Amino acid sequence: MQSGAIRPVPNMLARKIFTSDHEAFRETVRKFYEKEVVPNIEKYEKQQHVDRDLWNKAGELGLLCTTMPEQYGGSGVDRLYSMILIEEQAYAMDSSTGFSLHSDIVANYINNFGNEEQKQNWLPKMATGETVTAIAMTEPGTGSDLQAVRTTAVLDGDEYVINGSKIFITNGYLCDMAIVVCKTGNNEKGSANLSLIIVEADRAGFSKGKPLNKIGMKGQDTCELFFDNVRVPKENLLGMEGMGFMMLMKELAWERMLVAIICQAGAEAAFAHTVQYTKDRKAFGKPIGTFQNTRFKLAELRTEIDFCRTYLDRCMELQLEESLGVDAAAAAKYKISDMFSKVVDECLQLHGGYGYMLEYPIARAYIDNRANRIYAGTNEIMKELISRTL
Ligand SMILES: Cc1cc2nc3c(=O)[nH]c(=O)nc-3n(C[C@H](O)[C@H](O)[C@H](O)COP(=O)(O)OP(=O)(O)OC[C@H]3O[C@@H](n4cnc5c(N)ncnc54)[C@H](O)[C@@H]3O)c2cc1C
Repeated sequence: MQSGAIRPVPNMLARKIFTSDHEAFRETVRKFYEKEVVPNIEKYEKQQHVDRDLWNKAGELGLLCTTMPEQYGGSGVDRLYSMILIEEQAYAMDSSTGFSLHSDIVANYINNFGNEEQKQNWLPKMATGETVTAIAMTEPGTGSDLQAVRTTAVLDGDEYVINGSKIFITNGYLCDMAIVVCKTGNNEKGSANLSLIIVEADRAGFSKGKPLNKIGMKGQDTCELFFDNVRVPKENLLGMEGMGFMMLMKELAWERMLVAIICQAGAEAAFAHTVQYTKDRKAFGKPIGTFQNTRFKLAELRTEIDFCRTYLDRCMELQLEESLGVDAAAAAKYKISDMFSKVVDECLQLHGGYGYMLEYPIARAYIDNRANRIYAGTNEIMKELISRTL
């Protein structure tokens, strides 16, 4: 059986976006995944969630909410640190930890739109891992069409009363708090009806389903959330009523980048495992890597991976300058998740029968990767967005 942690094959065009401080942080993250996560992946997959204290361990090392301002418990660093965290998760071939959604999506909503009290209340606890968070948009009846959300929040005195349900929620089972997309109005323009409301998991009427039985990402606690007359103080509203859709749009390019980053690194990890495998495995008396088909296949994959890497790192530079367009980010998300699916399929083929066995990382990557083309906006929706700019 191969180990789950691997270093990527160096890119043909050397990457230029990291400093030595970034690389030092990468070492910390790499060790964390090697020591704390990789040995436990099978256990996480069996129980369908990570151990709760893994979040606290990540918090102690400063791996959560790293980009948040220091006064709210973060390190106030740039988003390349988020990129490194995601890459190291992918190089460890882990799909159990939902840190990025918590640190790079939920924390941003609170930091961008929360008032001072909300920021002070939530962000430091999120940075230590004391509070695990989720973002609940999708419902059984609607995903891509967010404006059709049916979960309602009705103001009753000083409280919102929330009714409805959400599905496919990452970190859903372990979450202590979720930002819930609710319908608060009945305007003709659907987008003006949505609001974001912070809901603590211990509120009466808030319940969680068991982690859903997915085909892959089995260690990730994706689940359903139910709201039955859940009362929260009106101070739990994030930003302004009716502005939910606008708030969801603000970081959309970044959220797509998060998926592109994990797919790119996932493809690099799959490739590195496969190069090693083709050197070790023999057929007809010689390593399978010496066959022309294998060499050409690997050359093709390497080329595709490196083309995408160059585009993605350029997108990241634009992201850091806050000038990354929604279309360019959508292109990164769809193209790189498609590329990952193709790479992992070809890599599995080069593993022969062993590629079909779950104890081989390539087999897990094959099933885990599939969701990337679906969440954070399906790849069809990405093409819709790109085509609108023409
Ligand atoms: C593992 C996993 C984790 C997830 N985590 C979260 C989470 O944390 N929070 C959350 O809120 N959601 C989460 N989701 C949900 C995810 O975002 C949705 O599944 C996704 O947005 C698609 O919505 P849907 O499933 O309702 O599919 P639908 O919207 O019903 O789409 C079905 C098909 O129709 C296509 N389609 C729809 N509209 C169009 C159109 N206009 N043009 C062309 N084709 C179209 C889609 O591309 C797709 O192929 C997660 C999903 C998965 C699988």
